Amino acid sequence: MHPFAVSRVNDVAQAVTVHARDPHVAFIAGGTDLIGLMKDRAALPEHLLDINGLSDIDRIEPLPGDGLRIGALARMSDVAANLGVRRRFPMIAEALLSGASGQLRNMASIGGNIMQRTRCAYFRDEDDGRCNKRRPESGCAALHGLNRNHAIFGWSEFCVATNPSDLAVALAAMDAIVIVQGSTGERRIAFTDFHRLPGTTPERDNALDRGDLIVAIELPGCVEARGSHYLKVRDRESYEFALLSAAAAVATDGSHIRSVRLAMGGVAHKPWRLTAAETALRGIRLDDTAGLESAIATSFTDARPLAHNRFKVELAQRIALRALQTAGART
Ligand code: SF4
Repeated sequence: MHPFAVSRVNDVAQAVTVHARDPHVAFIAGGTDLIGLMKDRAALPEHLLDINGLSDIDRIEPLPGDGLRIGALARMSDVAANLGVRRRFPMIAEALLSGASGQLRNMASIGGNIMQRTRCAYFRDEDDGRCNKRRPESGCAALHGLNRNHAIFGWSEFCVATNPSDLAVALAAMDAIVIVQGSTGERRIAFTDFHRLPGTTPERDNALDRGDLIVAIELPGCVEARGSHYLKVRDRESYEFALLSAAAAVATDGSHIRSVRLAMGGVAHKPWRLTAAETALRGIRLDDTAGLESAIATSFTDARPLAHNRFKVELAQRIALRALQTAGART
């Protein structure tokens, strides 16, 4: 394994300063993603800066208007078990519990979860060598290779991978905000702007710069949050990334949809909001399955499946429908 040093830091400002001045420094909290990437030599930091001692950024606190602020160092298990999360944002708890394994959820931090690299199996294969994300301008083995699990929206010929975070899909649906402490102070990033599409620079997964540290995620209160559901479909029942997933949240007047939020995982380099469907679904009865299906279909007219994942276009719509109906039954 690549040699590296480890040091601890107890102050956010100091952590930001150390990270900003040295491109070989990486933050580490739970380490559940980073250490695996280091073992595969897909990440080679020379200095791990242990941020677990930073105070006050592991709390889950209420915000005005039924919202929540979740500290970046809060562990996946703790957030999933938190009563405020389960009651106000059930899809967040469900998304967390569908990810990884019990042991990993006990270690993994919320900030680290959304920092997981968007990647595919070729990314881990050092011997293949064709991965623009791992080695810029080396090519993309998946583009004309095995791409069953890959994107159907927003991909470029530089990368067709999908983001692996379940939590990120639910946070995108909820219009969460990422609170970042950087060299120039604190800033707030809309969750749907946090992750990037690959374009010509797939090696960049998100909007963070060197010296940026996620300190919290805010969930604004919204009328749809309590009637929400996260549905994940995968090739085996546990410890597997999503083949496809849907996060649905809905507000009704009893029988008709007043407003809805829909996001999908396993379809793009970032969580994918179905904005056209969200508009088309307003006013439709929850028991009008044909109406729901045709509204959801409006978000799939621009799907661009690859050679091995055409099935995803139809399956994704079925999953979105089921997630929506389950969420609706909770209103
Ligand atoms: Fe690498 Fe992305 Fe291509 Fe996978 S899809 S081989 S991660 S560039």
